[in-house]
Amino acid sequence: MSSESNGPLFGKLIAIKDNISTGPSTPSLATTAASNTLRKHASPFAATVVRLLTENGALIAGKTNCDEFGMGSHSLNSAYGPVKNAYVRGGHALSAGGSSGGSAVAVATRQCWAALGTDTGGSVRLPAAYCGIVGFKPSYGLLSRWGVLDYANSMDTVGILSRDVPDARTLFRILNRFDEEDPTSLPPSVRARLSSADAGEKPDESARNARALRIGVPTDYCLEELSSPVHRAWIRTLNRLQDQGHQLVPVNLPSTKQALSAYYVLAPAEASSNLAKYDGVRYGSRLQDPPSHQEAEADKSGKSVLFSRYRGEGFGDEVKRRILLGAFALSAAAMDNYFIQAQKIRRLVQDDFDRVFASPNPLHTASSSSSSPKPSSAQKPAHEASPPQSTRSKVDLLITPTAPTLPPTIDDVRQQDPLATYTNDAFTVPASLAGLPSISVPVQTAGRPRSGAAADGDGGWGDVGCAGVQVIGQFGDDDIVLRMGEIVE
Ligand code: GLN
Repeated sequence: MSSESNGPLFGKLIAIKDNISTGPSTPSLATTAASNTLRKHASPFAATVVRLLTENGALIAGKTNCDEFGMGSHSLNSAYGPVKNAYVRGGHALSAGGSSGGSAVAVATRQCWAALGTDTGGSVRLPAAYCGIVGFKPSYGLLSRWGVLDYANSMDTVGILSRDVPDARTLFRILNRFDEEDPTSLPPSVRARLSSADAGEKPDESARNARALRIGVPTDYCLEELSSPVHRAWIRTLNRLQDQGHQLVPVNLPSTKQALSAYYVLAPAEASSNLAKYDGVRYGSRLQDPPSHQEAEADKSGKSVLFSRYRGEGFGDEVKRRILLGAFALSAAAMDNYFIQAQKIRRLVQDDFDRVFASPNPLHTASSSSSSPKPSSAQKPAHEASPPQSTRSKVDLLITPTAPTLPPTIDDVRQQDPLATYTNDAFTVPASLAGLPSISVPVQTAGRPRSGAAADGDGGWGDVGCAGVQVIGQFGDDDIVLRMGEIVE
């Protein structure tokens, strides 16, 4: 793709996750979402985010492997085979995290300057944490989704993977634009409210930038699954920030415990609807061996034989599992007990965040406009009803681990059942459900260098020397999240 010779990204190589359209001009850049259903599919247009990159001088380095349609946490669910982390442990390849694992490895191994991924429930932040780089998920609606293949569109967010926070900020500034092609792109009127925050109800931005920050430490993130190296890296980061004059404030986010289950109802429900179009007629190439005339006759229309064979052969197991789960959650028999309950939990998660952040949520000031059903207080179990946070204990940001553990080996992941794999996302899905900006930044685990980039004799880099620490901010507070990311780095 051509590169503008005077743009701020001139000559910089940027890799693109394979679920983001790169357009038809370069056939080698098919857009397949790592799915057999879309093998060789060249999207007729480039995603707005890709267009913005090239207009600003970037060169598209290539498409990166990922979990099929973004569904996974280890980039193993791909039609092209697994992504491998550059780091190894005891001769065993480590998980690169998912679903944007290919983008993370491309950045970590310096095959590109930066990369785009997508983050629906953690898919930029988790691979960043596992590969020792930076992964930034902006507020939902700031970066255009036009040309991004939907997984769960109410949470899908284009994210940035880079070597450091300033590079992530550079890309964010270029990509943060209203796009009329994307109906969920925040309109200029709302953007003006975010950027002119100092003139509105929010605390003055410049004052907030100058002063020490109040950092919320969610006690609910001390899960049983939290491993000691990650816990230590988190605590050491918090102590360092306190030494620098920032204030630590313990906070409760009681709905965190239900967030993961809600996510794994809502995301598959949206996916089951979004993926219905991959039927071999509208998208994808026709089957080599289409149903015979007799088979089609037996089925009257013939279409469902074609669809089911195409989808049966084309989708991988995890995608099929999600479609089945999602279709069930949306069925008349399960709708009330699953989908509606999950929507209510989503609202509780959003309320938890709004209760602890000092700045009001610019989208919830008129709370009746939210699309999620509002739970009545009676629906909240008494032991989980949280007292209102006093103004004195409100915070500017939250700091949590990104993932409960360091990257597992690929062999270990393969032995896990899918439910165990889903727990990797426990710390990333709450911000996704609420659409909040968050960044994962690598910090040293005790006594180890941040980059273990020395070969360990197995052709890999040795064990990963860092854990991901996640900064979460109020909706629209992307700049302050980036700023704290830089302090943590
Ligand atoms: N691991 C989560 C899932 O499989 C998140 C994926 C993502 O953010 N795309 O749904």
